[in-house]
Amino acid sequence: MKIKDLSFRKFISAEKIEAKVKEVANQIREDYRDKTPLFLPILNGSFIFAADLVRHVELPCRVSFVKHSSYQGTASTGQLKTLIGLNESIFNQDIIIVEDIMDTGLTLSKVVEELRSLGTRSVEIATFIRKSAAREHAVQPKYVGFDIDDEFVLGYGLDYEGLGRNLKDIYKAAH
Ligand code: 5GP
Repeated sequence: MKIKDLSFRKFISAEKIEAKVKEVANQIREDYRDKTPLFLPILNGSFIFAADLVRHVELPCRVSFVKHSSYQGTASTGQLKTLIGLNESIFNQDIIIVEDIMDTGLTLSKVVEELRSLGTRSVEIATFIRKSAAREHAVQPKYVGFDIDDEFVLGYGLDYEGLGRNLKDIYKAAH
C-alpha cells in the first residue's frame, strides 16, 4: 500500500489489536476496581484506541480528550508543548493518559510532570505502542499494547501526513 511517497505493509492485524486492547482493559479494570479514573486520551492519534479501551474497561470513568503536537512527518521534532483542552477538574483524580505511540517518550514525560504538579491523586500512562527508544526513558507507561522496534507505523488512529488513521490494521513503512 502506498501513501504519498512511502510504501507500507501490514504489520499487526485488527484481530490481534482487538485481543490486545481487551487485555489492557482487563488490567486497568483490575487495578482501578474501586476507583473512577479520568482517561485523558491525547488527540489525534489515540482516538480509536481510547474509544475501544474505555468500552472494554467497563468501569465507571470519565473521558476528556486533550491535545499536544510535537510531531510532523516521520521524525519527532523534539519540541515540548503542554496540554490544551483540559477542562475537567483533575484535582484528586486518578488519571490515565491514553497515548497512541511512545517514541522518544519526551512529549509524555513533560505532560506527566505537569499533571503531577496539579494535585492529581495518581497519573499513569496507557500507550497502545511503545517503540524501543521509549523503553530507555525515565517515564514508563504502566500499560503497553505492543512493543515494537524503531519503525514508522500507521493505521488504527496513527497517520502519515494526515492519512491512514482510519485503517483497521497497523502498517509499517517498507524499506
Ligand atoms: P515522542 O514524544 O514519544 O517522541 O513522540 C510521540 C508522538 O509522536 C506520538 O504521539 C505520535 O503522534 C508520534 N509518533 C511517533 N512515532 C510514530 C509512528 O511510528 N507513526 C506515527 N504515525 N506517529 C508517530
